[in-house]
Amino acid sequence: MNQTICSPQNQSLQNHSHQEHDRQYWDATIETLPRDELEKLQFTRLKQHLIFAYENSPYYHDAFIQAGVNPADLQTLADLRHYPFVDKKVERTRQLVKPLLGDMLAVPERDVVYVSASSGSTGVPTLSPFTAADFDNYQNIQARLFWAAGMRPDDRYVHALNFTLFVGGPDVIGAQKLGALCFWAGTVPSDRLLLIMKDFQPTVTWTTPSYAWHLGETAKANGIDPVHDLAIRRIIVAGEAGGSIPATREAIEKLWNAKLYDFYGISDIYGACAGMCEERKGLHLAEDDILLEVLDPKTHEPVADGAPGEMVLTTLTKQARPMIRFRTGDIVTADRSPCPCGRTHARITVIGRIDDMFIISGVNVFPSDVEFVVRNISGLSGEYRISLFEENHLTRFELEIERDEISTENDQLLLDRLLHDLKLRLGVKPKKITLLPVDELPRSTHKAKRVVDLRSAGDK
Ligand SMILES: [Zn+2]
Repeated sequence: MNQTICSPQNQSLQNHSHQEHDRQYWDATIETLPRDELEKLQFTRLKQHLIFAYENSPYYHDAFIQAGVNPADLQTLADLRHYPFVDKKVERTRQLVKPLLGDMLAVPERDVVYVSASSGSTGVPTLSPFTAADFDNYQNIQARLFWAAGMRPDDRYVHALNFTLFVGGPDVIGAQKLGALCFWAGTVPSDRLLLIMKDFQPTVTWTTPSYAWHLGETAKANGIDPVHDLAIRRIIVAGEAGGSIPATREAIEKLWNAKLYDFYGISDIYGACAGMCEERKGLHLAEDDILLEVLDPKTHEPVADGAPGEMVLTTLTKQARPMIRFRTGDIVTADRSPCPCGRTHARITVIGRIDDMFIISGVNVFPSDVEFVVRNISGLSGEYRISLFEENHLTRFELEIERDEISTENDQLLLDRLLHDLKLRLGVKPKKITLLPVDELPRSTHKAKRVVDLRSAGDK
């Protein structure tokens, strides 16, 4: 910006910087590796990783013996299906067996340099340890995902995620590795974050979809125009389904005049494991480092690309605590076809958490399906609340929605349109819909709580 000196040396630096900017990939070799070569690399890494876990982690050693598998016998990637699963419960139990870091650990504690912690719903925090090499590799992958989402060294990035033990906190280092100018804001109050955005004019930020909406609305309420007074042009979102729901994405994009990129992270592995490229049709998973399985949650058999199933992830290099067949509890679809961006790594689309799914008359319903419909109907604010209750021992749901500020359509006509679209998308309809005036439903700041479960525990 103040680049008035133009010595030959500076000129060459500028040329270098332009070349950097035009580069399409962070790591072209890895990101565009033909799938057969990618799978060969995965197999080599998987076998080494399983042997490493078997030899160094007391938990995996015993678990593999119990399952009757020996990593030395692994012949194909598909052989991984004989290995036992790990889930949050196993992780918590094994941590308590041998405090602090548990017996899944595969290195001495002195080699661990960083842990993140996630509290989860049961209150016992689970720790996710990294060695120095794990951490470097992690940040290299974050830089790769940021690059794919269009971040470049001349961007200014404001990192507004929680720094307190949250795995997404250190991701700002990935942005620095990429060369962006980074502001370590953390989760400051909205007015403070807006001041940072106004004073420092960052061009990229990362938050949840609900908060991106809330922040834009708060800006407007405080006389700040997000489009003209702020410089945000790319918003990375994670933690909720909204970033992959077109109507939600478009509403936030319009509010900010920015492009939205959905990322997927999980505390047990990395702050981000997958992210959208410029095509924004699914999130590329870092498949050279994380192996993807999409399985029927009941039979545990692989489902075809495009069909929904539970995402099960296996780390391929993470040494502090290898994650072998980790059941994420997330329902996704996978697409392994070539992406127009040239990247060969599989793309995932997250549909929702298994835990958030509810069953109405034998039909699986995700809150994200309801959101898809509510956000696509004109005349509504887009806010909604689902209440689950029991009727004759069966789950039923009610829906509360809000009018927008400008619609004058007759209530019944609006509800008829909504009901028609809900039935079409969900296959079932709510027992009751309540249409509220605008601003009646609570606005959330970070992760939105949009489902109220009034059922007794036995009926879930
Ligand atoms: Zn792509």
